[in-house]
Amino acid sequence: LKRIAVMTSGGDSPGMNAAIRAVVRVAIHEGVEVWGIYNGYAGMYEDKMIKLESRSVGDILHRGGTFLGTARCEVFKTLEGRQKAAENLKRRGIEGVVIIGGDGSLTGAQLLSELGIAVVGLPGTIDNDIWGTDYTIGFDTAINTVVEAINKLRDTASSHGRVMVLEVMGRNSGWIAMTAGLAGGAEQILIPEMTVNLDELCAKLSKSRDAGKKYSIVVVAEGVGSAVTIGEKIAKDTGLDTRVSVLGHIQRGGSPSVFDRILASTLAEHAVMALISGISNVLFGSKNGAVVAIDLVDAIGHKRTIDTSTFRLATLLSK
Ligand code: ADP
Repeated sequence: LKRIAVMTSGGDSPGMNAAIRAVVRVAIHEGVEVWGIYNGYAGMYEDKMIKLESRSVGDILHRGGTFLGTARCEVFKTLEGRQKAAENLKRRGIEGVVIIGGDGSLTGAQLLSELGIAVVGLPGTIDNDIWGTDYTIGFDTAINTVVEAINKLRDTASSHGRVMVLEVMGRNSGWIAMTAGLAGGAEQILIPEMTVNLDELCAKLSKSRDAGKKYSIVVVAEGVGSAVTIGEKIAKDTGLDTRVSVLGHIQRGGSPSVFDRILASTLAEHAVMALISGISNVLFGSKNGAVVAIDLVDAIGHKRTIDTSTFRLATLLSK
């Protein structure tokens, strides 16, 4: 194997740059040439690629986002689109690609492999919703951002005796809400994986106020619905002074945490070494603290569930 490529795809996440940097430097160390594909499958399709050197990836380790850019590319979902993309790689002599992205990007990777390109995936998403790995690159940074927001909301909620409703990201997954809710001491955590009963929620908030709780933080995963609507219902049903914050894209940015940098660098090294050994169609992840290779078809074929013991603990501690 003489030449590989690396790209980021789908939603960006902090640590993607750290992963690209490690892919490039490990490959070069092993005597393999690396190309960077701009804007995910869009760049693969449009043939927008650049040869990367060790120096090309200097000064990016600590930056959020991805210097290669990322995009969503509809034409890659068609066979003709994928054939053109694969041809672009073959013409340049690129035999394998490291694809850093979420579920959709990994599905695309599996399909690309059917056209004779070796693919290895790295889980890059803040949502932590990829099957087979305990953590995705960017999740740790995102939950730290959310906890910082909860800490700040606590200060003002406590001063005014308010209910603060905070909407966080996660698409259809409750990982961000659940984990940040536990770490931030949220009184109520609403996630799509658990039944949400808003009447019950309001009753609990009223009851805890009567029992002497000065203020409450409610964390809502975006997959449950709009925090604005939920906040309006809480205000109406309980009469409590309620405010809503939607944290939004702040959760996707920022300098990656130590955990995300190490996860990204470690998994990237494995990805390159796998391609060099002739391995394809795997996703590298972390399970119980060890690096694991997961079959790409398994990773994309399963839906990751939440860890119910964490949810139970968060609920227990919020009393
Ligand atoms: P993420 O990777 O974060 O889940 P998306 O679901 O938007 O983000 O997927 C990113 C890109 O991956 C899409 O724009 C498309 O180019 C490619 N992709 C996603 N799903 C498929 C699919 N079923 N077949 C081929 N390509 C896909």
